[in-house]
Amino acid sequence: MADKKEKKSPLFYERNFVWEEIDEKAKKAVFSVSEDYKAFLDAGKTERESVKEAIRRAEKEGFVPFSSVKKLTAGTKFYCENKGKMVALVVVGKEPLEKGLNVVGSHVDAPRIDIKQNPMYEDSGLTLLKTHYYGGIRKYQWVATPLALYGKVIKRDGQSVDIAVGDKDEDPIFYISDLLPHLAKDQNTKTLREGIEGESLNVIVGSLPHDDKDEKNKFKRNILEILNQKYGIEEEDFISAELEIVPAGKARDVGFDRGLIAAYGHDDRVCAFTSLRAIFEVKNNAKTAVALLVDKEEVGSEGSTGMHSEFFNNLVSEMIELENSKRSNGLTLRRTLANSSVLSADVAAALDPTYPSVSEKLNTAVIGKGVTIVKYTGSGGKGGCNDANAEFVGKIRKLFNDNKINWQTSELGKVDQGGGGTIAYILANHNMDVVDIGVPVISMHAPYEVVSKTDVYETYKAYLAFYNNYL
Ligand code: MN
Ligand code: MN
Repeated sequence: MADKKEKKSPLFYERNFVWEEIDEKAKKAVFSVSEDYKAFLDAGKTERESVKEAIRRAEKEGFVPFSSVKKLTAGTKFYCENKGKMVALVVVGKEPLEKGLNVVGSHVDAPRIDIKQNPMYEDSGLTLLKTHYYGGIRKYQWVATPLALYGKVIKRDGQSVDIAVGDKDEDPIFYISDLLPHLAKDQNTKTLREGIEGESLNVIVGSLPHDDKDEKNKFKRNILEILNQKYGIEEEDFISAELEIVPAGKARDVGFDRGLIAAYGHDDRVCAFTSLRAIFEVKNNAKTAVALLVDKEEVGSEGSTGMHSEFFNNLVSEMIELENSKRSNGLTLRRTLANSSVLSADVAAALDPTYPSVSEKLNTAVIGKGVTIVKYTGSGGKGGCNDANAEFVGKIRKLFNDNKINWQTSELGKVDQGGGGTIAYILANHNMDVVDIGVPVISMHAPYEVVSKTDVYETYKAYLAFYNNYL
């Protein structure tokens, strides 16, 4: 029989639960940071709303728009927004830019259901909107549940109007129907993937007829009248609109002991939030610190607001020009990027005790064991992955150990079970050192995902240590 507290040789590698490692003061900080995180989530249910909230917080912390920065000196704090869906926050360091930047890159888009361009129709006493889902959703999870509608409409005259309905207590919600079990005999024989089809994700937005007796489409007309009164829009305005259906409701604590948070969009607003918290606290940094919040990660990072966009390179070029008070040349930009270090800040799949068979226990993140280092992503033999080199992972591991960060490692499920990617490879293609570092999540991409408060806290501490140190 072994002693109660078995002495282990220091030669072994093993990770413990954060809760057992931290003192009372840190435990208090875990809960306090979590309250702030829930407020951030509730203020930003879409990429546009998240960017707005990030800028609101940045301005409170003394960050100014990049357009108002005349000279770059150590400690200069600014933000640069791109088309309302992407934002970079920067704290200038003491070293020249060419020595490289310390970048934490997260994404603020999340899987959701987008409204089509010509969406509205009436059928059988209901008014509905056609949709096209965005990102990797499991469609059956989005039916028969309260939904909210967010977005922007550009009107005929070019004016824009913002719409946000479904999250205030007095708001109505929206709804996608599902079959009753009594009549689901045929549907029940289908696979989960086919049970709910993409074209069945029609959102109910109305049910009262307009009182014009001669109107052929009374139900649709009634909704168009309401929208016109409230927002001054007409049916053609849907063409130039981005309207998104997301789960209605606030972030909530999970469990009697309140150690977890269930919310929409932990992927990847949890890394956006923790990198924001970290960059707000950066002081006397040697290398210039950047928190990059990007869009379109869930659909391949393409487009003007995705990581593939030239936005970031253009911004760094502008910064180089400001720093030197002369035209930046392409070579300086390339050197700056090649000398940069990046934490690709994205969530990891946590081991789910109800579905352990998809994970390989030695190499999966466990909820509550801290921030996760994911050396490589990809699928089917590391296909399409950024595989961080051992040298860089070694630096990060030392950094975390030196700063008493509780960290673990993981990969995305068992070999050949599936896979996925992040923005890591895009930045790595510019010859930057990049590794994925983030928060383990249960039920990723579901309307409500789950994270541990301790892991949120350790991730924020990890990003702060990264910003404050010279790698
Ligand atoms: Mn993600
Ligand atoms: Mn994702």
